[in-house]
Amino acid sequence: MSRRRRVTGPQIDGGRLWGDLEALAALTEPDRPWTRRSFTPMFLKGRAWLAEAFRVAGLEVSTDAGGNLVGRRPGRNNNLPPVVLGSHSDTVPSGGRFDGVLGVLSALEVARSLNEAQVELNHALEVVDFLAEEPSEFGLSCIGSRAWAGALDDETLAMTRPDGMTLAEGLRYVGGDPERLASARRPAGSTHVYLEAHIEQARVLESAGLPVGVVTGIVAILREKITICGQTDHAGATPMALRRDALVAAASLVTAVDRLARAANGKGTELVATIGAFDVHPNAANAVPGTVELVLEARSEDEARLQAFVNNDLAPAFAQIEAGGFGLVRKPISFARATRCDAGVISVLQEAARLRGIEAPLMPSGAGHDGVFVSRTGPVGMIFLPCRAGLSHTPEEWAEPGDCAIAAQVLLDAVLRLDQEGTPRA
Ligand SMILES: [Zn+2]
Repeated sequence: MSRRRRVTGPQIDGGRLWGDLEALAALTEPDRPWTRRSFTPMFLKGRAWLAEAFRVAGLEVSTDAGGNLVGRRPGRNNNLPPVVLGSHSDTVPSGGRFDGVLGVLSALEVARSLNEAQVELNHALEVVDFLAEEPSEFGLSCIGSRAWAGALDDETLAMTRPDGMTLAEGLRYVGGDPERLASARRPAGSTHVYLEAHIEQARVLESAGLPVGVVTGIVAILREKITICGQTDHAGATPMALRRDALVAAASLVTAVDRLARAANGKGTELVATIGAFDVHPNAANAVPGTVELVLEARSEDEARLQAFVNNDLAPAFAQIEAGGFGLVRKPISFARATRCDAGVISVLQEAARLRGIEAPLMPSGAGHDGVFVSRTGPVGMIFLPCRAGLSHTPEEWAEPGDCAIAAQVLLDAVLRLDQEGTPRA
């Protein structure tokens, strides 16, 4: 396929986008790059930089009551719901320069490119830096997009971080207003479309040598705590034949989960399952482990398949442990539902990539994103770009400048197309 089927229309300035990525990366805690934790002075520095960049781009800048930084570019018809582009500028501790930041800065680059080409959209365009997408010190993630969805209540506002600050105080610290949270709420239908570009945080695109993937949805996540009870005994005095070693039983469960999750894949359903948290009691070199607590986590876009995996596929493994004389207690921790990206938006994003010579594969997002909450306000779509070796949430996180530019260009092309939809042409 020709790479030059369509070169008309507004063009992204990849060098300018890269310059912004470098400038924002410089705003990090110096001793542990790349760290810009939400609700910290460094976060506010990043926010001040972004607000100024939004202003220079001619955007109307405000911080809503939910602590989201919004840059608004008016459209021809401001009674229409806005096209929203964005992501988050906060990072995990010692995180990367691209996770989240790329989505905010590519959105800004889209706005600037539209300005330069003197394109007036039908809809207003909003560039949003959502507050605290990463798990914050308050023990909550996606705080700003939760505010849009009306999912912050008095209980969440009272959550405290280790130094005693409440989330309500944290919102005020970043320029939000916990008393006026209702004003940040965006009802269903208030977003024409939400688009986000994000690094993949895995190796699928890099392995395939592709610069863009189109996200079909954000997976459902099921977590449950499993306690296996055996018998604590002296590790020297207790013969092998008389033991009920809970860790040996737990190990059989770990291998069963891995084996059965591998077997569950294919036939259009992808599923991952992990036992990543483990507590052994008494956890002593000279004691036969008596109790093991572990957390089983499984993720899939297919909620029914996810439930069937945990309740049916794993049933023989659980039964085998109980048959071995062990106590087994399973306690649900959480179930986060899957978020579907809009089918129409998915095809617009794929077509936008195709017109730039890229056959973008469809792929689920195994990680959570602000789109989970923004989807309650309107249709959402996401694109992924490759990151080196799939590394993310680490200082080594890296995306190629050319791939960042392609992602921003696909966003821009999709915005132009989606702006025409659902709107009678003048
Ligand atoms: Zn992110």
